[in-house]
Amino acid sequence: MKNKLPTKIITLTEENFKEALKIASEIISNGGIAVIPTETVYGIAASIYNSDAIQKIFEAKNRPMDNPLIVHISDPKQLNDLTDEINETSRKLIQQFWPGPLTLIFKAKEGVDKKVTGGLNTIAVRMPDNAFTLKLIEMTGPLAAPSANISGKPSGTEISDIFEELNGKVDVIVDEGIVRCGLESTVINTLINPPVILRKGTISKEMIEKVVGVVTFSSPGEGTISPGTKYKHYAPGVKTTYIKKISSPDHFNLLMGTISKDKKIGIIHFGLDIEGSYKNIKIENLSGNPEYASKFFYRTLRKMEKSVDEIIILPLPEHHGLWISLEDRIERGSDKIIDVI
Ligand code: AMP
Ligand code: MG
Repeated sequence: MKNKLPTKIITLTEENFKEALKIASEIISNGGIAVIPTETVYGIAASIYNSDAIQKIFEAKNRPMDNPLIVHISDPKQLNDLTDEINETSRKLIQQFWPGPLTLIFKAKEGVDKKVTGGLNTIAVRMPDNAFTLKLIEMTGPLAAPSANISGKPSGTEISDIFEELNGKVDVIVDEGIVRCGLESTVINTLINPPVILRKGTISKEMIEKVVGVVTFSSPGEGTISPGTKYKHYAPGVKTTYIKKISSPDHFNLLMGTISKDKKIGIIHFGLDIEGSYKNIKIENLSGNPEYASKFFYRTLRKMEKSVDEIIILPLPEHHGLWISLEDRIERGSDKIIDVI
């Protein structure tokens, strides 16, 4: 067991913004690692030019070494240090979505650290939409930053949820409150035609198609193309069941009747009309608004796993746009998926 790091916690305010930047940038420039805010989820960041620091990220997260990291930049010009080729599709997407939650795949330039790319000859890059982190990158240069969580767990959307996991494993935590989006960035490969969405995320397929025409989703089993997607992901620490469809209210009432009285159950639903109170059942309504539901989804899972024995997630109201990304996370985090009750 390695010695614990004395993690410094900074709660970001207008007053300490510059001081926080100074502290975080010095830590990163000296080979440390930092939990930083982004608009999607919190990240654990290291300089892409410091291989030992990159190694510390993998250790802090217990992340498989073949799972590549997303490089965060503060200006599209920095792409020139990472790749020799920016195709027309990427240019259009950058123009439309950066800064923002879209990660693009490029051919990696010679000399990019193999730890960052997980040994691939491609590199994933995005420009986050967060004032603190953009300024930080201006000071440090590009940062490799995967989500702030132990590998396999739901991503961190507020510090209280991930503090126990990461305290003592990183040099500094910059706390800016709950993030704006709550789901990770969309990862798209434009090196092939039509482009392929490797990871569903905050920017929907429909939004991308408005800019560059038809794109596709990668099919299950294409894990080697985006290594991260082959691992079990986003999973709370208790048994989780996703029910995709409820065919009649009677079936729902029947389900509630059969739930074991000896266990504490957490139910997550999306704007359903659920009446009544049930002993030992904790109900969270994440609403029929996909932005709201996405923002609070991981936080709800993390709170529930601490207070219930089992989680049941009820059907989504719609199946397009951001709902598709949210459903991807629900399915990956669930132990059991029931098509219909
Ligand atoms: P994380 O930052 O932990 O939320 O995960 C980053 C995601 O980006 C993972 O699913 C990785 O597999 C994916 N990724 C990073 N670099 C590449 C790459 N060069 N090619 C394909 N996917 C990548
Ligand atoms: Mg992650």
